[in-house]
Amino acid sequence: MILLLQAPQPVELADAPRRLLSLGPSSSCRRTAPKVPRAFKTLLAPWQTSPGALAAGRPSIPALLIHIHIFKAVFPRPALAGVPGSGGGMSGGAGPAALRVLVDMDGVLADFEGAVLRGFRSRFPGEPRVELAERRGFSVREQYRCLREDLAAKVASVYESPGFFLELDPIPGALEAMREMIHMQDTEVFICTSPLRKYEHCIVEKYKWVEKHLGPEFVERIILTRDKTVVSADLLFDDKDTIKGAELNPSWEHVLFTCCHNRHLQLPAPRRRLLSWEDDWKAILESKRRQ
Ligand SMILES: [Mg+2]
Repeated sequence: MILLLQAPQPVELADAPRRLLSLGPSSSCRRTAPKVPRAFKTLLAPWQTSPGALAAGRPSIPALLIHIHIFKAVFPRPALAGVPGSGGGMSGGAGPAALRVLVDMDGVLADFEGAVLRGFRSRFPGEPRVELAERRGFSVREQYRCLREDLAAKVASVYESPGFFLELDPIPGALEAMREMIHMQDTEVFICTSPLRKYEHCIVEKYKWVEKHLGPEFVERIILTRDKTVVSADLLFDDKDTIKGAELNPSWEHVLFTCCHNRHLQLPAPRRRLLSWEDDWKAILESKRRQ
């Protein structure tokens, strides 16, 4: 990654505006820097940067080092006042160096797949169905479509029905893990979930589900987005095997949460899995904290 100051003219770094633009793979990533640390100024001083300097072919700079500066020093993460686990709460303690963890909802906290199968079986008892052991691929709708074209709409009607998301069972161990994680020192936890495109019932029921099972403090920590790549964090626990979006290089490490539709996948190194909430999720957090 190459970092340049965003300025219409070449400028001395010390006098530069306080916005930085990261070019290259993360060209869409813009952040506001309240202050440029001295070490960072020294590092970039020879550049006296501008987009023109890049075109002129200035010598390369230690990109990795700069990347670390940007995410660990130039843009410290502010503690969230009054929220446990975020630095301002009763038992929290996260500060600028807090580990930020995103936890997906469907397939990680809430048993989407089990409820789809039960709902389909009950609503369409005479139709062929995909048992959990046969699930392949993230989209249940597409797998039913492969079974028979019209089954795609039928299975979608199950999870688009009112009450579906609210009635999902928690994944075993998920609630206990979340309650423990939110109180861990130097840790920020958020629920990061993508609503259906047909969102009429899904969104409000996701909020209600979180309040019902985890309480109001977690409602404060819901991030609803169709694009998780633009959310800044250290870790993302998610059952979707491939997560793409506007940001080509998300800041988080995606830890694949094992679910019926992804258990057969071989992950290329260095990708990691969390097999269940009985697996050692704390070790993953600690290993990330040490990086
Ligand atoms: Mg999911």
